[in-house]
Amino acid sequence: MSSHDVIVIGLGGMGSAAVHRLAAKGLRVLGLDRFPAAHDQGSSHGGSRIIRQAYFEGADYVPLLLRAYELWDELEAESAVEIRHRTGGLMIGAGDSLAVAGSLTSAREHGLDHELLDAAEIRRRFPTMTPADSDIALYEAAAGFVSPENAVLANLTMARRHGAQLRHGVRVDSWAADDAGVTVRTEDGVHRADHLVICPGAWGPALLAELGLPLVVERVVQFWFRPTGPPEVFAEQRHPIFIWEDARQRQGYAFPMHAESDGTVKAAFFRGGATCTPDTIDRRVAPGEEEELRQFLSNRVPALPGPLARAKTCMYTTTPDEDFVIGAHPRHDRVTLACGFSGHGFKFVPVIGEILADLVTDGATRHPIDMFDPRRFGVED
Ligand SMILES: Cc1cc2nc3c(=O)[nH]c(=O)nc-3n(C[C@H](O)[C@H](O)[C@H](O)COP(=O)(O)OP(=O)(O)OC[C@H]3O[C@@H](n4cnc5c(N)ncnc54)[C@H](O)[C@@H]3O)c2cc1C
Repeated sequence: MSSHDVIVIGLGGMGSAAVHRLAAKGLRVLGLDRFPAAHDQGSSHGGSRIIRQAYFEGADYVPLLLRAYELWDELEAESAVEIRHRTGGLMIGAGDSLAVAGSLTSAREHGLDHELLDAAEIRRRFPTMTPADSDIALYEAAAGFVSPENAVLANLTMARRHGAQLRHGVRVDSWAADDAGVTVRTEDGVHRADHLVICPGAWGPALLAELGLPLVVERVVQFWFRPTGPPEVFAEQRHPIFIWEDARQRQGYAFPMHAESDGTVKAAFFRGGATCTPDTIDRRVAPGEEEELRQFLSNRVPALPGPLARAKTCMYTTTPDEDFVIGAHPRHDRVTLACGFSGHGFKFVPVIGEILADLVTDGATRHPIDMFDPRRFGVED
């Protein structure tokens, strides 16, 4: 039995940031993950994740995003790994769509730089796009994307540099907390620590079963298309990320081409996937699964959806209000939870690491996290 200040279960997006920030504070950290570093079995793979500040999911997230941006730059500088791509971003749809109206509300409330473009202006500045005359867009120069794999690897590298012990390929079978500390049982041993941080991603329902959190795991598919025409028009130096909302409130989004996307453009729908578990998810993508997205894109960015190059499943772990779950375990104050990122967590990764380290060392954080309270679903103490 080995002893540590803190054990972190799960070294995906959130857990990698947690071990980094905890080790940087001088704690003796043990990090455990059942899969290899930056694996593709959870929620943090596929080469790209949108980051933006104007936030239609809620203006209350903006202060966290501003801090996340600072920390993304810091992580990139200290690890010397390229993570962040600055491409600008368009939120497109009807004036009263969530994508446009919600982004605009949060941008105005927080004084974020943005431009509003009518359909003619969208067509002029972004000639790949064919909006309807009634569409408008909020353009945000600060939007872009990050590489999730590079971000995870950079955090793990920094954690090791600060002395963290990280073990991959080790599955945690159970954990328990008592007055003196926490015990974590793995396939090949038992570990003790003063504190436990659980960042389980889609395995939240399994690792936190006794809490009965209302988490729903969703199978979503990322598709990589070869453009129909000259691919350069989709190069990251020229093309923004976009999220486009239709009259049925479906949101489709895409990334420009970049060095690691191998001449393809990645696109997907936000939400709307089938419910699954990490054990039952069908990781095969059936021929034709891309048809709905292809149609959506053909009408809006006709040069985008050429031949399908590849497709890969991923999982969202969604709460009923689509807000995250971050805070002390309602029954064990030595245990801190970070789950339920509801398909929009990656852009926050570095600030979640900072919050988790604050919660472990101080029992509190200066960041606004009340809306993420694990008790809000009526879990009893
Ligand atoms: C297709 C797709 C697109 C997305 N796009 C965006 C986007 O554009 N912008 C954005 O901000 N967010 C986006 N998201 C959401 C974001 O990626 C997730 O919110 C984030 O990756 C969640 O990180 P996590 O650490 O909770 O989960 P994960 O990264 O999956 O980490 C959980 C880890 O826990 C480990 N684990 C679980 N159980 C055990 C156990 N028993 N023992 C040991 N280890 C265990 C797993 O192996 C895993 O490594 C997207 C998600 C998907 C799937």
